[in-house]
Amino acid sequence: MAKQNKESRCSFCHSGKHETLMLIEGMDAFICDKCVTQANQLLAQELGTKGTKNIQEAINLLKPLEIKQHLDQYVIGQDDAKKVLSVAVYNHYKRLNQKVDKDEIEIEKSNIMLVGETGTGKTLLAKTIAKILHVPFCICDATVLTEAGYVGEDVESILTRLLQAADYDVTAAERGIVYIDEVDKVARKSDNPSITRDVSGEGVQQALLKILEGTVVNVPPQGGRKHPDQKMIPVNTNNILFICGGAFDGIERKIANRLRTQAVGYKVKKDETVLDLKNLYKYITPQDLKSFGLIPELIGRIPVLSHLNPLDKESLRNILTAPKNSLIKQYVKLFAYEDVKLTFDEDVLNFIVDKAMEYKLGARGLRSICEAIMLDAMFDTPTQTDVRELHINLDYAIEKFEKADFKKLQAA
Ligand code: ADP
Repeated sequence: MAKQNKESRCSFCHSGKHETLMLIEGMDAFICDKCVTQANQLLAQELGTKGTKNIQEAINLLKPLEIKQHLDQYVIGQDDAKKVLSVAVYNHYKRLNQKVDKDEIEIEKSNIMLVGETGTGKTLLAKTIAKILHVPFCICDATVLTEAGYVGEDVESILTRLLQAADYDVTAAERGIVYIDEVDKVARKSDNPSITRDVSGEGVQQALLKILEGTVVNVPPQGGRKHPDQKMIPVNTNNILFICGGAFDGIERKIANRLRTQAVGYKVKKDETVLDLKNLYKYITPQDLKSFGLIPELIGRIPVLSHLNPLDKESLRNILTAPKNSLIKQYVKLFAYEDVKLTFDEDVLNFIVDKAMEYKLGARGLRSICEAIMLDAMFDTPTQTDVRELHINLDYAIEKFEKADFKKLQAA
């Protein structure tokens, strides 16, 4: 044992134990984590099952139009955001495959900012994109981040999550997609640089800058704070696509102010003279993000900006039934497992949408309302072996909905 502690070295690269994350002992040899990873990559390349090859294939197959068509299967409406995302993602992966040619024109990274009310499909869009491209994907919440050294999570924890999503395959993680939710919550707290440090606002933005642009970051593999004894995994963020999302509550006022001051002598768009006041998000510009409290350097590193529209009744109605894995299709499938044919009256679907609108629950609320209506049926059906069909009509839906504790729904 004493011998192993003193002299153990990787039999392949000869690294000492202290230079590696892990040294695995065999019959009469050792192998370090780096050599395992390398061997794994060689194997993957040879078999063509993992990593780069897969991404290249996906990209070679999917043009922006096709990416959008895939998104259409899962996400209702939001055509502008879908188009922008499809192009940005396509260009991003084209950039990954670029060879540096003589003219040395380097395609720059295209991180994306999605702005729209909560529950309009920002996360869903990012998730769906990652699924199409078969790349590691993780969602992080910007609200938990703080500047290094303060209570909260370091910005590097984002990359820990991505590594975990990639099963610690660093090469795969380095081509992954990260969705940073609620990025509006790290806006600068006030316009004046204050005497106290803004550790969860501007401090985080500064820290994000570094990883968004592309650099090698030492990531603690299990998350948590960095400490001197911990082994770190270096991750290059150069090719990681960052999609940021936020509701930016109150930004409409800033957009309106800007438009109002601009309106003298200018039209919003050539062919548009009347502003769509119900959806000011669609006029958003980087300037508005700046007045909201994002620092210009960060805005500069997220060059693609798009908006999501608020969901109207018709969109909510479509969300219930149209997407490939829509809520209603999910319930029908759940009941089909019990050999029960589940059907709904049209009125019931309209009722669900009306309630979601009435209580301002948005798309997120559709599920809570459906659960309230379906709970009893889901409880009873598995034991009622003689029931083969279940039809939900309006009276039944209203009865079950009213029985549900409504305060809970509103908190959803
Ligand atoms: P956000 O990230 O904008 O707050 P999410 O993407 O998490 O919202 O949406 C919450 C849920 O609402 C999703 O899981 C999805 O079921 C549904 N949803 C929201 N918008 C849409 C949409 N445009 N198309 C389909 N489903 C949607």
